[in-house]
Parts: sequence; C-alpha cells; structure tokens
Amino acid sequence: MRIVLLGAPGSGKGTQSRKLSEKYNVPQISTGDLLRAAIQAKTKIGKQAKTAMETGELVANDLVLELIEQRLQEADTKPGFLLDGFPRNIPQAQALDRLLDGLGRKIQIALNVHVEPRELMKRITGRLICANCGEIFNEYTRKPKTAGTCDACGESKLTKREDDNETLVKARLETYQAETEPLIVYYRAQQKLRTVKGSGKSDEITLKICDVIDADLRPLGARGSHAEPKAPEPIRIVLPPSAEEIAAAEEAKRKEEAKLEAERLKQEKKAEAERLRAEKKAAAEKAREEKRKLAEKKKIAAAKKKAADAIKKQKIAAKKKAAAEKKKKVIAKKKEMAKKKAEAMKKKKAAAALKKKKAAAKKKVTKKVTKKTTKKVAKKAAKKVAKKAAKKVAKKVTKKVAKKVSKKKAAKKTAKKAAKKKAAKKKRR
Ligand code: AMP
Repeated sequence: MRIVLLGAPGSGKGTQSRKLSEKYNVPQISTGDLLRAAIQAKTKIGKQAKTAMETGELVANDLVLELIEQRLQEADTKPGFLLDGFPRNIPQAQALDRLLDGLGRKIQIALNVHVEPRELMKRITGRLICANCGEIFNEYTRKPKTAGTCDACGESKLTKREDDNETLVKARLETYQAETEPLIVYYRAQQKLRTVKGSGKSDEITLKICDVIDADLRPLGARGSHAEPKAPEPIRIVLPPSAEEIAAAEEAKRKEEAKLEAERLKQEKKAEAERLRAEKKAAAEKAREEKRKLAEKKKIAAAKKKAADAIKKQKIAAKKKAAAEKKKKVIAKKKEMAKKKAEAMKKKKAAAALKKKKAAAKKKVTKKVTKKTTKKVAKKAAKKVAKKAAKKVAKKVTKKVAKKVSKKKAAKKTAKKAAKKKAAKKKRR
C-alpha cells in the first residue's frame, strides 16, 4: 500500500494518516515531522529548513527529497507507506515518481482530504498535540475529555505547534493553494486521485477513506468494517467468484467510482468557487489593507512633519531666547562693567579727593608749619635784621653820635681854643 495524502494544512490528513497507519499497519511518513525532528536535533538539514518553516514557506525541495529518500530506504516501508505532507509541489511529485521507479514501486492512490477553506483556519489555530503520543485535539472541534489531558495516553502536556498561529497559517494556506493544489490535476491525470470530504466526525471520515482504499487496493473478500478488531481473521474457504459475481462486482465498483468521481467533481467545483471567492476576498482585503497602510503612512508622515515643524519652531524659539538671554547678559555685563568702572572711578575720585584732602591737610599743616617756621624764621631773620639794623643804626647812631660828639668835642675844642685865643688876646692887651 503506497498512498499519498493530499490536503490543506488543517484538513486533518495528519490525524487520518495516523489512524490509517495503525489500521493498515504501514508507516506514516510526515515530512513536517521529519523536518521538525531535524530542527530539534540541530542537523544540517534542520538548520537550513528552520527559516522557511518559521515563515510558513516551503522548505527547499533538495532538503525534503534527501529526507524522504533516506526514509524510504528503511525496511519498515517495504510493505507500504502513507506519505503525509509530501509531495507538496509538482517537482517533488515528479522526483517521488522517479525515486519509486528506481525502487520498482509506484504510488497507488493520491487521497485528497478536502475541507472548506473557512473551516481550516479554526481547525489549525485550535490544534493541540499530545507531547507524548502525538494524538491531535482541537480547542474548538475536538476537545479532550479532561481539559489539558490526552484521552489516548493520559499525558498532561498538550502543546500547540509554533507555526499554528493565524499569520503563519494564512501564509501556509496561500503556499498550499499556489504550490500543492496543482498536484490534484497531476494525480488526476495519472488516474490516482481520490477525493474525500474532510469535514464531519473524524471516525466517519476514516471510514470513508477506508472505503476508498479498500475499493482500490483490497481484494473483495478482504473488505469489511473499518472498526474490525486486529485479531486474525478466521480461516475461511473462499470459492473463486463466478463470472456473474465478478461482473456484478465490477459494475458496483464502476458505479461507486462514478459516484465518487461525481462527488469529487462537485467538491472540486465547489472548492474552486470557494477558492475564487476567497481569492476575491483576499484581494479586497489586501486592497483595504494597502489603503489602510497608505493612510497610516500618510498619517505618520503628517505627524512626523508636524513634529519636525514643532521641533523647528522650538529650536527657533530656543535660539531667539538664547540670543535674547545672551544680549541680556551682554547688557548686564556692560552694566556691571560700567557700574564697576563707575565704582572704580568713584573710588579713584574718593581716593583722589582723599589724597587731595590729605594733601590739603598736609599743605595746611605744612603751611601752618611753614607759616610758623617762616614766622619764626622771619622773626628770627627780622630779629637778625633788626639786630643787624639796630647794630647798623647803633653803629650809625654811634658813629653819628661819635661824629656829633667829636663835632661837639671839636666845637668845644674850637670854642675852647677860641676862648683861649680870646683870653690870650685879652691878656695881651
Ligand atoms: P506540516 O507539518 O506538513 O504542516 O509542515 C510544516 C512545515 O514544514 C511547512 O509549512 C513547510 O515549511 C515544511 N514542509 C513540510 N513538508 C514539506 C515539503 N514536502 N516540502 C517543503 N516543505 C515542507
């Protein structure tokens, strides 16, 4: 049994392939799981795949093919396998066909699990995975019986996948539409495509899938209930079918296939219409978003301009204020200097006045002293002069007196002589 499971992220193909793997006892090979394990183990492939997985894009084909090639070499894939999430685009499907050709095998069924796009988002963002056994629950559509605990193994750690957030889911759905959906045409052309509606109860979907698989791959006698126990079937003698039985079975198979094909075409038509509607909606949303972004940009630019203008104004005002303050300071400095100058002048004047006063006082004192001294000197000089003059006068007077005295004396002498002469003359007579 070699089956490829196709389906958008959240279509439930992971859950279904796990159930089918258990029922048909073939390994489920999920490239998503292989890549996540490689990332966790920090292998070369893991490191290279990380960024693409974190952004919801597809990992490079050569990396995924390397992983698949390795995995398909393993012994457990001999009886068959269920490929979950691989191939994701036409080149991968072609590479898978080449790889299997080399191993002498072929893909038998491409099973497309179809879910309406609007339901997908809810399914993925609500997805909860058991950290122990990998059982998948959903916050909206398949809650565990006890909140936070796995129904299957009792583990209390139910986690969410890192890429199960709304933004990444949107990106992953877009990638699916662009890259993976063309595989529907690829496998239809090979007449291997089978489509099953993926909405409704999980077990019912499994039954529908099993019907499809059994119709294609299991002999008539081996078909039966899908809830059948795994216990070995009782040994039965199966007679070869008659020609009528074979014809009836083939007719039934043909009718079933025609019914399935009609259903598939209906679903595809519906899906296409839905896809177009979603595309239109996405385009309108994108246009709205762009308009909003443009308006936001304009708003931001206007706000920036306003802020820049305000800053400019503030700067100018600050400059003006600074200039005014500088001017004020210069004026104040000038005033201060003038004041200091005036004070210095005043001090100088005061000092000069004091000096003058002192000088005047000194002069006065000097004058006084001089006057006194002069007076004294003058007095002395006068005294001296007077003395000198007096001496002179005295000398003069003395001289005069002496002259007078001598004149008197001479007169007296003359008189005496005259008297003597007279007396002598008198005597002679
Ligand atoms: P899944 O678990 O299948 O939803 O995958 C999770 C992520 O793994 C995807 O979004 C891709 O980035 C990456 N991935 C899984 N399978 C493939 C593949 N076949 N080709 C490329 N990328 C893949």
